[in-house]
Amino acid sequence: MITITFPDGKQRQYEAGTTGYQIAESISPRLVSEVLAVSVNDKTMDLQIPIRENATVKFYKWEDEQGKQVFWHSSSHLMAEALEILYPGVKFGIGPAIENGFYYDVDLGGRALVEADLAAIEQKMLEMARSKQPFVRREVSKEQAMKTYLDKGDPYKCELIGDLEDGTISFYTNGSFTDLCRGPHVPDTSVIKAIKLTSIAGAYWRGDEKRQMLTRIYGITFPKKSMLDEYVAMMEEAKKRDHRKLGKDLELFTFSARVGQGLPLWLPRGAALRERLENFLKGVQKAYGYQQVITPHIGQKELYVTSGHYAKYGADSFKPIKTPQEGEEFLLKPMNCPHHCEIYKSKPRSYKDMPVRLAEFGTVYRYEQSGELHGLTRVRGFTQDDAHIFCRPDQIKEEFCKVIDIVLYIFKTLSFNEFTAQVSLRDPKDRNKYIGSDENWEKAEAAIIEAAAEKGLKTVVVQGEAAFYGPKLDFMVRDAIGRKWQLGTIQVDYNLPERFELEYIGADDKRYRPVMIHRAPFGSMERFVAVLLEHTGGKFPLWLAPEQVVVLPVSEKFNDFAKKVCDFLNNSELRASLDDRNETIGKRIRENELKRIPYLLVVGEKEEMAGTVSVRKQGEGDKGSMTKEEFVAFINNEVKHLTN
Ligand SMILES: [Zn+2]
Ligand SMILES: [Zn+2]
Repeated sequence: MITITFPDGKQRQYEAGTTGYQIAESISPRLVSEVLAVSVNDKTMDLQIPIRENATVKFYKWEDEQGKQVFWHSSSHLMAEALEILYPGVKFGIGPAIENGFYYDVDLGGRALVEADLAAIEQKMLEMARSKQPFVRREVSKEQAMKTYLDKGDPYKCELIGDLEDGTISFYTNGSFTDLCRGPHVPDTSVIKAIKLTSIAGAYWRGDEKRQMLTRIYGITFPKKSMLDEYVAMMEEAKKRDHRKLGKDLELFTFSARVGQGLPLWLPRGAALRERLENFLKGVQKAYGYQQVITPHIGQKELYVTSGHYAKYGADSFKPIKTPQEGEEFLLKPMNCPHHCEIYKSKPRSYKDMPVRLAEFGTVYRYEQSGELHGLTRVRGFTQDDAHIFCRPDQIKEEFCKVIDIVLYIFKTLSFNEFTAQVSLRDPKDRNKYIGSDENWEKAEAAIIEAAAEKGLKTVVVQGEAAFYGPKLDFMVRDAIGRKWQLGTIQVDYNLPERFELEYIGADDKRYRPVMIHRAPFGSMERFVAVLLEHTGGKFPLWLAPEQVVVLPVSEKFNDFAKKVCDFLNNSELRASLDDRNETIGKRIRENELKRIPYLLVVGEKEEMAGTVSVRKQGEGDKGSMTKEEFVAFINNEVKHLTN
């Protein structure tokens, strides 16, 4: 007999060799109908694999991330089977699950696939899903595996097998299709009830641009039809909110092939928005004792050799800039931290000066592959809302609490109401790969966990996810349509203070190393504006909107009065503009509404006579008429309410 321990600590005895599926059956029929895979001693496995020793067992369902991954990966096998039936001779690369769905890279032998072909593949998949094909595992020797794929003529699988060790190789068969795979998979295909193949792209074999270009087919599947319907609706909404589209429609930013890929150009409205965000954060940071600094966009190569960034980014990034001076080399800065270390070092520091908090909206440059570039979220030049806190080890917790306060204030002000945090700790089994003493690590890890708890954060603690130089805390927000975005990282660093030999003088007159904390609540201005655009759909809160008010005279006769109103608003520190184009009032209202202008003021004869304006609010329509003074008070009151 073996003892199986469940997540709630309860234990039960089973015959050795009992499968996960049988254990689920012994618990409840409902569990059997929902379970997709099982974790045995922290290893995700097929439900059919016999368990021979005492083990801790956890069942994965659709609701669990691991359950979804197994479900989607199994779906990639199902798609491969359909492809093999519809496109005989197709060769297969890899077919993993991804964050939302799965893909398979395939070689169709010169046949081109278009979006219209996807429906036929989906149909075939559904047909086979309904026939309840089990996923059958078979262990094979390396020789057998190689022979199978040599016979089949699939060079990609042969290459993959070449990299595997004998004795670790398995095949899985569903229906007429067999794949090289280590698993796990769902028990059979009948759990896959709804299928959507979402797109087709090109992908180099093993990500190497010198090798064969394969066809990557993306898809997503669900255990219920209604879930697919919800997903499709969400994707449609996401398309409308795509920041690249909104950025263009709202005239916020653009790109120019002549300036270069991945180098955003901020248009006046975008620059105004960004400036407001910067000022907002500067204001908060000032209240929290940060000092603003400014550093150059380049630095000597030696600076980044010292910091270790050259070793990390040097080979795959922008090449050093040479000067007429023999041997002199500069790098575009990939990080602001080394510059800030030198500012810290510019004068002696005492324990009483700590913490030193240096902040900079610092622009950095990193070479991203052109295929990786994406709107404002993946760019080659971007501005971090960066700051570095140099503190004593005993100050880590307090500083974390303060940074968390700043992050929470930002989330609240910008209506990111749902978020989680992840604390990344070191791997306790492999302490050698981390820099810094055990004592410091333990203190810092405890400090982060305590700070997060004190601030009431919902956190997940993950061991082994810390950087080699220190533990960290990351924030993940859910946007208005349920997508998750990573925003804001707070990172402890023992490495740079060591590399730059940073010091402070203690109360005992001895020299000590400070701890460095990197933090960027927005991440970068580019990425944050992208997330904010997709979250708000371009309807920025009033205090942030690049233009808050547009004044619209109903006809040319009232242009003078409209201009006076507009001037009055601008003199009252609102951001207003006049739209007196020679277009119908209806058309002008529509166009300004599409630009997500929070307030439109319409003025005509009645308003001019009464000295009032007619107020229309974005998304709410007519708000009646007010005097211009009343309107200014009304707006100021709304802004005050939003930022407090
Ligand atoms: Zn598989
Ligand atoms: Zn940094």
